[in-house]
Amino acid sequence: MLELDASQIQMGRQAADKATALAMLAEALAAGGLATPAYHDGLLAREAQGSTYLGQGIAIPHGTPQTRDQVLNTGVRLIQFPEGVDWGNGQQVYLAIAIAAQSDEHLHLLQLLTRALGEGDLSQALREAREPAQIVELLQGAPQELALDGQLVGLGLHAEDFDELLWQGARLLRQAGCASSGFALGLARSEPLPLGDGLWWLHSEQSVERPGLAFVTPAQTLSFRGETLKGLFCLASQGEAHRQALERLCDVLIGGRAAELSEANDSRRVIEALGGEVAPDWPSVALPLLNAHGLHARPAKALSELAQQFAGEIRVRLRGDEGAGVSAKSLSRLLALGARRGQVLEFSAEPVIADDALPALRAALESGLGEAVEPLLNEAAQVPSVVVEAPVLAPPAGSRVQAVAASPGIAMGPALVRVMPTFEFAEQGAGAASERQRLDEALSAIAAQIQRLVDGAGVASIREIFSAHLAMLDDPALREDVDARLQAGASAEAAWQQEIEAAAQRQEALHDALLAERAADLRDIGRRVLAHLCGIDLPSEPNEPYVLVMSEVAPSDVAALDRQRVAGILTANGGATAHSAIIARALGIPAVVGAGEAILALAQGTPLLLDGDSGLLRIAPDDATRQQALREREAAQQRREQAHATRLEPALTRDGVQVEVAANIGAANETADAVELGAEAVGLLRTELVFMEHAQAPSQAAQEQEYRRVLEALDGRPLVVRTLDVGGDKPLPYWPMPAEENPFLGVRGIRLSLQRPEILETQLRALLASAEGRPLRIMFPMVGTMEEWRAARDLAQRLREEIPVQDLQLGIMIEVPSAALLAPLLAREVDFFSIGTNDLTQYCLAIDRGHPQLSAQADGLHPAVLRLIAMTVEAAHANGKWVGVCGELAGDRLAVPLLVGLGVDELSVSPRSIGLVKARVRELDSREVRTLAQQALNLESAAAVRALAGGLH
Ligand code: PEP
Ligand code: MG
Repeated sequence: MLELDASQIQMGRQAADKATALAMLAEALAAGGLATPAYHDGLLAREAQGSTYLGQGIAIPHGTPQTRDQVLNTGVRLIQFPEGVDWGNGQQVYLAIAIAAQSDEHLHLLQLLTRALGEGDLSQALREAREPAQIVELLQGAPQELALDGQLVGLGLHAEDFDELLWQGARLLRQAGCASSGFALGLARSEPLPLGDGLWWLHSEQSVERPGLAFVTPAQTLSFRGETLKGLFCLASQGEAHRQALERLCDVLIGGRAAELSEANDSRRVIEALGGEVAPDWPSVALPLLNAHGLHARPAKALSELAQQFAGEIRVRLRGDEGAGVSAKSLSRLLALGARRGQVLEFSAEPVIADDALPALRAALESGLGEAVEPLLNEAAQVPSVVVEAPVLAPPAGSRVQAVAASPGIAMGPALVRVMPTFEFAEQGAGAASERQRLDEALSAIAAQIQRLVDGAGVASIREIFSAHLAMLDDPALREDVDARLQAGASAEAAWQQEIEAAAQRQEALHDALLAERAADLRDIGRRVLAHLCGIDLPSEPNEPYVLVMSEVAPSDVAALDRQRVAGILTANGGATAHSAIIARALGIPAVVGAGEAILALAQGTPLLLDGDSGLLRIAPDDATRQQALREREAAQQRREQAHATRLEPALTRDGVQVEVAANIGAANETADAVELGAEAVGLLRTELVFMEHAQAPSQAAQEQEYRRVLEALDGRPLVVRTLDVGGDKPLPYWPMPAEENPFLGVRGIRLSLQRPEILETQLRALLASAEGRPLRIMFPMVGTMEEWRAARDLAQRLREEIPVQDLQLGIMIEVPSAALLAPLLAREVDFFSIGTNDLTQYCLAIDRGHPQLSAQADGLHPAVLRLIAMTVEAAHANGKWVGVCGELAGDRLAVPLLVGLGVDELSVSPRSIGLVKARVRELDSREVRTLAQQALNLESAAAVRALAGGLH
């Protein structure tokens, strides 16, 4: 894309005439290495075909298609002529912009220029500018028009309160490209303005991409600050763009016509009332643009001249754009569309001229608007190409790759490498009938594939998923919509992809998390069909348990895996304490992560053997290695079975010191299993999953229900709950946060909660109300200062006065080194500490816990981390408080003796590890491990500590 900058501009030059100016421009292009001197001929030839004068004292000289091969690098050079140069027909040019472009890269620049052209008297300012920067500013700084069209109006939306309505408004603005993700936060922080009659106004300038005004109404009248809430305006504010709409709004309100807005059930009425652009209901035609270099100056000029021949209005817009489009008579507006080859232009003409104008437009576009053009049909027939990024060589058969152990166990199976291909295809098809036939063939082929999966699935839940996929393929509404696109000239690929995406987006917008999840299924079958159309073989699932190989796996990917089918997980990136690894452990799927990009180049079906305890990966191992691995798996299995048999007994060291062993869980329905697996408490309930399962922040009642289920299943055992810990690597879709350079060092955990205390308050209320005499411990995540702890504690104490709880303890997680260092002070005030070694290690060693290369070194057994743990335990015990460890270190076989030796009172681990951890504790002698821990504190590295701990039996 071409961009303007001051270094491209020569100021204060003079030229006696246009020819001299063109020679100067050609020289500037050549001097900049953008074109050969011969490009000068191109500039002259182009001017001979027609003037490149654009308006407002600007000309855009450029070469002809025949001289494009003289372009060396795409770019521009600008020369200011304050005294003006006659460009023909008496048009004075003060700024000439010479363009050297090989294809359509300059369209963006034209868009920019034509936006500037619409504004006031630019020529004078260009002439008087003294610095190049002023020119850039004049050309780029043109204020943008306010977006206000159908896609920015949402009527009768599901919203339970003001915040939800605000979020809906922000979402519309984001979808329309007016705002980016931090906008909602800015909006939430701004002061709502009551407009009367139940209408409210909010605006923010934060994260605004272009000005836009959204209007949203709730399905039912809400109340807010003691007044009614029937409609909310959300303005993405930039400059004065909204002034006119605001004036119209004031007129509506003063004229007593507020109900036209608050009770509107047609977005058109709202837009009309506010003076926004509504597409006229005129005869129309959709035509693809054939010109190789898009709608650049010459074809745009031909189009505008054609439109001007008709005594009536003709509007044009790009397919997919909302609003009334622009006048086809205006050259600058046409250029501002930035239309490229293959994009579809939608023309509409006033009924009086439509019968003549639309066929003329069709003929003109088909014949290339004065340029030689190739039909798009050829592109549709071309075999589409795929770009798969897997440039590195795969590790050879028999090789070993040492990666990061992420979830214990040994897995063996064929590789299923999932690298997402990029599909490339022509937008326009070879005619509806043949495109329909191609699509039908693809659909039947995919249906047959899925049917085979249904028939072969041994597990009922998998059968159900694939049966649902079959039904989606056959959905008549989807087929109708796709067909409409084929009729309009789209290719089978484009029609299918656009409709699947639209359907998936509709699904996502539903306020039901389960239904919204079907969007992923839709996209999944969408990809299969598209791959078939593009002639790409997507890897099919092996019919034996396989090792899933991916670049990275998101927590939601892992959660969606089926343990029957996935024997193991192998990733190129990621670390052991990434949340995906934690979920893999919870599901009991062995995982090795951070193995490097080369594994993505493995051939599908390559036999893999991975050891989730040591992090070792073997590619196509020989028979002896496989047999050895099977024996080890057998032995591990036996250890697990023995541990399982005694899982319900307490964990006492040989000399009688008891260590409580608790479970880390993320959802209420895991509690009963955890208790069954021997949990003596829940030592960490990660409540963010409760929040992630909802399309918006869950209400107090919804949360209470969840917490009650946990407490009930615990049957009197203590529950340690962590309040919402989002931010960093755990974003919440409905709580948009501004992008941060270092999210792990940004607004996350308790910092975020204290910025939105109402969410924390609702959660605390739900927790306190659900306790009903049962032991409840609440802890706050990521506390780093006394003030944070006290602010959170004070809120909890205040609520406790309203909602009395008998057995409540308040504590903090020790995850930030400053909290460990302040432990002697904090220990006086808290009831307990729980050490989150995942984050504590990350912050202590300054290694991102998910870092692809470094996370293997983020070892919680590093003596520096152990020292922080030791300080924390010492301070807590000196004040009579207890300490738990709930990070992944607590379940590490080598770490257990050291943590017990440092005096940790509770170990909270993934439920599947409880039996093993208890069994390990029973093997220990408390005095022996105390000595061992002291030795470890004085070692130099994590490796030395591991070696020391490995020597203990
Ligand atoms: C931790 O940081 O150790 C912890 C338990 O919290 P999480 O892994 O959820 O960040
Ligand atoms: Mg943490």
